Amino acid sequence: MSAVYLDHNATTPVAPQVIEEMTDALQRAWANPSSTHGPGQAARRLLADARSRVASFLGCRGAELVFTSGATEANHMAVLGALAAARAQGRTRLVVSAVEHPGLLALAQRLADDGVPVDHIPVDTQGRLDLDAARSLIGPDVALVSVMGANNETGVVLPTAALAELAHAQGTWLHVDATQLAGKSALSFAASGADLMSVSAHKLQGPKGIGALLQRQGFALPPLLSGRQERHRRGGTENLPGIAGFAAACELAGRELAEALPRMAALRERLETSLMRALPGAHLYGREAPRLPNTACLRFGALDAEQVLGKLERAGVVASSGAACTAGGTQPSHVLLAMGESGLHAKAGVRFSLGRDTTAAEIEHAIAATLRCLAPLLAEHATEPAPLAA
Ligand code: PMP
Repeated sequence: MSAVYLDHNATTPVAPQVIEEMTDALQRAWANPSSTHGPGQAARRLLADARSRVASFLGCRGAELVFTSGATEANHMAVLGALAAARAQGRTRLVVSAVEHPGLLALAQRLADDGVPVDHIPVDTQGRLDLDAARSLIGPDVALVSVMGANNETGVVLPTAALAELAHAQGTWLHVDATQLAGKSALSFAASGADLMSVSAHKLQGPKGIGALLQRQGFALPPLLSGRQERHRRGGTENLPGIAGFAAACELAGRELAEALPRMAALRERLETSLMRALPGAHLYGREAPRLPNTACLRFGALDAEQVLGKLERAGVVASSGAACTAGGTQPSHVLLAMGESGLHAKAGVRFSLGRDTTAAEIEHAIAATLRCLAPLLAEHATEPAPLAA
């Protein structure tokens, strides 16, 4: 068996149908959709068709969808656009969660350095958002509440419908970074209560470099990139092969989701219960919280994630860690720190994330390999003398 890929929250393999549609767009719809001649109009038709297919999957209108280069750009567009638009109403504050994607947290930090008041809603030890804290932070001076739909490290789903109510009661907007929800849950922008929503194609078997910001109808956010495309909301010649691939990926996900979600959940359950049962010291993050059906984030005692991941990969299992590896060593995961973990444990989280194509045989292989790699390591650590108290 080739390596078992369990890192679908980082990115997914591109589906064959997606490659086919992208190739077709590159070969046949290479013209500029803004051109008025025949080839341009053919490209324009492909763009319109792809827009309606993506919109249908995401539960929004075509006019509410602005194609971007991915979720990072969509997040920037939402936050910077909302702050600029709300300034006239005297709203200046940005409220985010403590467990946002590093790109969004870095943007929030940059804004804070420039004097924008920024608040972080905390989470509990299960990764659940503290709604009481949210209630007290969301006031009439807030320009935007920006929270992810589901956390990429733990899979914990955040209560965005409740946040939409809190935000709207204060006359402010909610942006949901739904990058990890799309393709792993039944997502509908219309039903979500969100005013703005980011998505990215490469998390659902589409290509990288294409995504979208959904903007509720009537919204007039200033663009991040000026220009005439996307109804003046996002300049730059459209990435038509990417958009065609995004549409194919959405259609495929729409067809497979109902069958795939319970199957992924059962496989994920099998993986985590097997590991928890057989490995003393294994800890499952977000166990009591609502979670995506594909994500299991565990630590094995205090074994460093990088050490575990190296062993797993040599045994044919590819997973990942929320802790970023830098030249200066492993950095603890900000998500696990926000959940109250120590610095040591926050470097120990190992994330297994399944895909729609993950098979039962692959999960059995991953379980056997993980037990084989980690049981001796954990036994070794259990017999080590406890460090002397300082
Ligand atoms: N937000 C979340 C929650 C993500 O998981 C990711 C991808 N890791 C991003 C944003 C960034 O998406 P993109 O790669 O499309 O810029």
